[in-house]
Amino acid sequence: MKLYEVEGKQLLKEYGILIPNGWLKSTPPSSFQFPVIVKSQVLTGGRGKAGGIKLVSNDAEMHETINSILSIEIKGEKARNIYIEEAVNFSKELYLAIIMDRTYKSPVIIASAAGGVDIEETPQKNILSIPVNPLLGLEEYIIRRVASFLDISFVKAEQILMKLWNLFTKEQADLVEINPLFIDRNNNLIAGDAKIVLSGDNEKTKERLIFTRSSESFEERCQGLKVGGAYIGGEISIVASGAGLGMATLDIVSDMGGKVHSLLDLQGHVIHDLEGAKLLIQEIQKFSPKSFLFNFYFQVASCKILAEAIASELGGTSIPVTVRMKGIDLEEAKNKLRPFKNIFITENLQVACENTLLFAKEGI
Ligand code: GDP
Ligand code: MN
Repeated sequence: MKLYEVEGKQLLKEYGILIPNGWLKSTPPSSFQFPVIVKSQVLTGGRGKAGGIKLVSNDAEMHETINSILSIEIKGEKARNIYIEEAVNFSKELYLAIIMDRTYKSPVIIASAAGGVDIEETPQKNILSIPVNPLLGLEEYIIRRVASFLDISFVKAEQILMKLWNLFTKEQADLVEINPLFIDRNNNLIAGDAKIVLSGDNEKTKERLIFTRSSESFEERCQGLKVGGAYIGGEISIVASGAGLGMATLDIVSDMGGKVHSLLDLQGHVIHDLEGAKLLIQEIQKFSPKSFLFNFYFQVASCKILAEAIASELGGTSIPVTVRMKGIDLEEAKNKLRPFKNIFITENLQVACENTLLFAKEGI
């Protein structure tokens, strides 16, 4: 599992590696200092070059940049979130990583004094790589070589390598890469970026992180609520009363050019249970869909229950919601949803799909 920068930095911090003062766009601190760096949270690298990382020096510029970064795609990927950091005043950018070499089944330390750029673009002679015997760990000669190659003191090299090694082994990582690793004006080593790949099913670590969002765990979570769910990765979460209706909705939306985030099949359980329906919507929201399209046709159950859950979880929020429903207690169900500006109600499937795309394009 590849981690977002913000998740990776959370791990670095837990292991005692310094990171810049930072926060997610939704949770700004009460005070901070400009300039700050606005950073797109996507899983692809090279964000800097693709325009996903910008230095800004005031509030207006920051908000403008957040919106522009959220609207662009980086190698086909839209940002799930924006991470903001106080800019580091640095004198040097280094590169430091530990990677699991599958061929030799051995971790390898990679270091370079030319950080900040893609390591692929750095000439071989400027890169140091040293295999580490996992049974012996970080032997002194390794630390010495890294220190002299990076032109930092033995103590500094030892401190950061120990922390990185701890993280790498305890979290069962395949890769821990810090690029750039800043040397700031006070001669501190500060991680400017974090690229971490965890191996296997390291559930404990996943749970601790800010986002919970692998396709696996989406499906597991749905199962836990006795609902069929598939995570696709786009923008629109489709929730339908039945697998067939869901697939048909997905086809129509995709044909119109909509990007589907996930597909949920209510399978008759949640529809009788208000709390269950609310929980389901909360679970989907953890995976940050950009909008919802509900499509349900209840001939035995009442439309009221799901409508009430939608009203309570999504009514009045900034998330665009389209509800196509038919069946029992239709008028009462509509009345529950009518007060909300962000909820569009229709009985017609075609209209519902068209509206979902319109919402996506033009907002509520
Ligand atoms: P990547 O392009 O996806 O690897 O994103 P990084 O987080 O590595 O950022 C790219 C580049 O932005 C870095 O190499 C730095 O040159 C610059 N940058 C990132 N954070 C800071 C910062 O705090 N201060 C300054 N001055 N530059 C930064
Ligand atoms: Mn980087």
